[in-house]
Amino acid sequence: MKSKLIAIVGVVVAVVVVAVVAILVGGLAVGGDDNGTAGKKAVRSGGPTTVDTTDSDPGTTTDPEDPAFKAALSKPVEDSLYPNVGDPIVDSLHYGLDLTWDPEDKVLTGRAEVAFRATASQQEFQLDFGEGLEVTAATLDAQEVEVTHVGKDLVIKAPVTKDQRYLLVVDYEGTPEPADAPTTRSDFSTTGFTITDDGDVWTMQEPYGAYTWYPVNDQPSDKAFYDFTITTPAPRVGIANGQLTSQTEVDGNSVSRWHLDSAASSYLITLAIGEYEQTEDTSASGVPLTYWTAPGDARALKAMKYTKRAVDWLEEKLGPYPFSSLGSVVVDSESAMETQQMITYGDSDYTLSPDVVVHEIAHQWYGDITSPSDWKDVWINEGMAMYVQGVFEAQQTGRTVDDVMDEWATWEKQYRATAGPPGNYDPRTFGESNIYYGPALMWHELRKKLGDEKFWAMVRAWPTVHKQGNPTREEYLDWIEQETGEELTDFFDAWLMGEKTPKRS
Ligand SMILES: [Zn+2]
Repeated sequence: MKSKLIAIVGVVVAVVVVAVVAILVGGLAVGGDDNGTAGKKAVRSGGPTTVDTTDSDPGTTTDPEDPAFKAALSKPVEDSLYPNVGDPIVDSLHYGLDLTWDPEDKVLTGRAEVAFRATASQQEFQLDFGEGLEVTAATLDAQEVEVTHVGKDLVIKAPVTKDQRYLLVVDYEGTPEPADAPTTRSDFSTTGFTITDDGDVWTMQEPYGAYTWYPVNDQPSDKAFYDFTITTPAPRVGIANGQLTSQTEVDGNSVSRWHLDSAASSYLITLAIGEYEQTEDTSASGVPLTYWTAPGDARALKAMKYTKRAVDWLEEKLGPYPFSSLGSVVVDSESAMETQQMITYGDSDYTLSPDVVVHEIAHQWYGDITSPSDWKDVWINEGMAMYVQGVFEAQQTGRTVDDVMDEWATWEKQYRATAGPPGNYDPRTFGESNIYYGPALMWHELRKKLGDEKFWAMVRAWPTVHKQGNPTREEYLDWIEQETGEELTDFFDAWLMGEKTPKRS
């Protein structure tokens, strides 16, 4: 997400909160293609250092036994901050989401094909699923299965055996209701499926809220592949993560198929439905870029075109772009979210600024290719995205990074005091500025300690260590100590867990 924004006007310092951008995930299962080639992208010609993630792409298969799902094998955990969301018994591998949106009656009709592995033997298991939606049929491995749906808990009354794989199919319909967000931020108060006055749809769902529109294990440690089929009356079209594999018009409806060829956490899934114009672009290194903006919206398109320069700039800092493609879609939100391979931007001047574009794309390395296992570690995402944004801002404004950090330090004290230490925040204050600025200052201190060469080598290496995985805080910090040869326990403790801002050098 984007952070809160700060503006200095004359001698009066005005603190403006920049909103964190949320991620949306959309998914539809499209069975069929027996070897999965439909969704595969050509390997781009990005040079020898390009990270090739297409080798693990399972295509559009829904067969839970398909060995190509290996990148989606996860170690699901119960979240330490939001334990009521997610079920560690479920390790989802693939969501095939076939969604039909009626913008007149505001009804979503869906079929979710969920391929998953059971992580333990149990008499029943559950997924998260919004109260606004009603299950009309459910099968497990093609056998009808009883479900109960109380609150957002969809309980499937069937025994599962540890390490066995299953295909759950859920048919449903209803009007999705957004979820209350556990936050005090000013730029969003709900997450998930959001319907505009015109009947358009967008979704941002960090830290959870994917369950408002499909049955899902809605906790970040469980990554899965996705396919989406979105049907809606033309000229509206559906946008989701990954790449558009086909778009047709049938009986006045547009049918858009999307394939995500990397495993993603549910908070990184996006769905947008509305009238859109598609613009193709390519980064200098060959990453295919696509921008989805409202027809004739020159302002949004101009902002999205900054993506190309931002990717080029970020590849110099962070290494080769970690996925096979990058898209962006502009929606009627006040925030922006680093949804995987399809970033979702609100349409305000701030969310369409180069700073936010750089920030959200930086998350593809820090947040998306590797993601937190537990929400207590969202600082891993936001700290580095914010630091990289600070380096970019310094360059854009002709200041030194030290100057930018000095400025941020004047705010950080207050953020830490009100929302708590970045590594130990109050779960009711998700996404406050404390998880952004403190960790960004921490990285700058570490950079000064290590020197530029060692620091940036570490920053570039980390996203390649656990590709499509969910390393823990401990794994990350241990790795940094090993990589740098420094003893940093006290340093990290002070910055991440301290009630007060540590002394800066
Ligand atoms: Zn962010």
